[in-house]
Amino acid sequence: MASFSVRFLGCKVSQTDAQTLRERLVRDGHREVERSGDVAVVNTCCVTNEGLAKSRQAAARAARTHARVYVTGCGARLSDTAFAGLPANVTVVLGQIEQAVETVAGDVGAIGCVQADARLDRVRAFVKIQDGCSFSCAFCVIPLVRGATRSRSAEAVLGEIRRRVAQGHREIVLTGVNLGCFRDRAAGHTLPSLIRAAGSIEGVARLRLSSIEVNHVDDKLIAALRETPVVGLHLHVPLQSGDDGVLRAMSRRYTVETYLRKLEPLTDFNLTADVIVGFPGEDEPAFERTLGAVRAARLTKVHVFPYSPRPGTRTAAEDTVPPEVKKERSARLRALSDAACRARWAEKVGRGDVVLVDRPGRGYGADYSPWLVEGPLGELVRVTGRAVVVDGILAA
Ligand code: SF4
Repeated sequence: MASFSVRFLGCKVSQTDAQTLRERLVRDGHREVERSGDVAVVNTCCVTNEGLAKSRQAAARAARTHARVYVTGCGARLSDTAFAGLPANVTVVLGQIEQAVETVAGDVGAIGCVQADARLDRVRAFVKIQDGCSFSCAFCVIPLVRGATRSRSAEAVLGEIRRRVAQGHREIVLTGVNLGCFRDRAAGHTLPSLIRAAGSIEGVARLRLSSIEVNHVDDKLIAALRETPVVGLHLHVPLQSGDDGVLRAMSRRYTVETYLRKLEPLTDFNLTADVIVGFPGEDEPAFERTLGAVRAARLTKVHVFPYSPRPGTRTAAEDTVPPEVKKERSARLRALSDAACRARWAEKVGRGDVVLVDRPGRGYGADYSPWLVEGPLGELVRVTGRAVVVDGILAA
């Protein structure tokens, strides 16, 4: 039996892949530990320069505390040179997640006494429904490192959700790189029908989508979200820019007007988004239009990504906005996002909500707003807002 730890950097898909790796090693009879151990797996990210640099640091740190380190994920697939020069106990594992799991698990080896039903002690489970992306946004490295879109079968997804619920998970997050591309033609499923089927599984207390491209937000999807009681009023819809010229240069497939129109029926939703700041050609008026679009769309949490050129993309050689300008714009956008979050939280003071407690003293309300509340882990707790604090809503 080996002792191991798995850490991930980056997005929900990376988190889901890390979960797959952890489960496989637990199922093979190995023991998960917090810090030092025999084996570390670092599932890396390459979506920004910073993500790749942090991935390398994590691998270097793990090499000091573990006998063997496996570097997997997007960063490893994009550039094995990014991990060159690390100690000899670090192995870079290429290939998609399915192959990486087999490589790592094969290397570590199974022990005789395997656990058929490995349970990871989390309230929330990320269930991958799709991987890869066939869009080709000019800045994005994901299609290069994850390949074209492909879906799991609905049967496999629904089976995994049933297993998760049986293991005690209460919240299911449907995860993928471009969720709206999910298709199971043989079974006649698209994302809206999958949401309905997943939401009707007994024991699912909460169901969420990790994110959805605005192109895929339509009447069918909205109806599925609204008519599935366990789906909360939250949607993460990447914006990337609020300027049509920048959106065109990014090869995004919408205008600002389309983005706003598509979200119009969701005025009661807590809407969150990703925005890239300092894309080549983004001038001050273009950035101000982004601030305006964030306000007009009533976005709350904005994940701000200062632009960094990625190798192999169409904008790999372009980076015209100076770093200090990116920094200053990022700070302004984060300030706007913080104010929008606090304004939404303030609406909850004196009002009731139902919070799923996912960590000691913390949880998320029905629209995925963060609450500070005491309650048993994994339970839905009725609360009333007392005050807004820096990181959420204080329950009375
Ligand atoms: S939709 Fe665009 S940004 Fe998102 S993964 Fe696909 S190519 Fe990348």
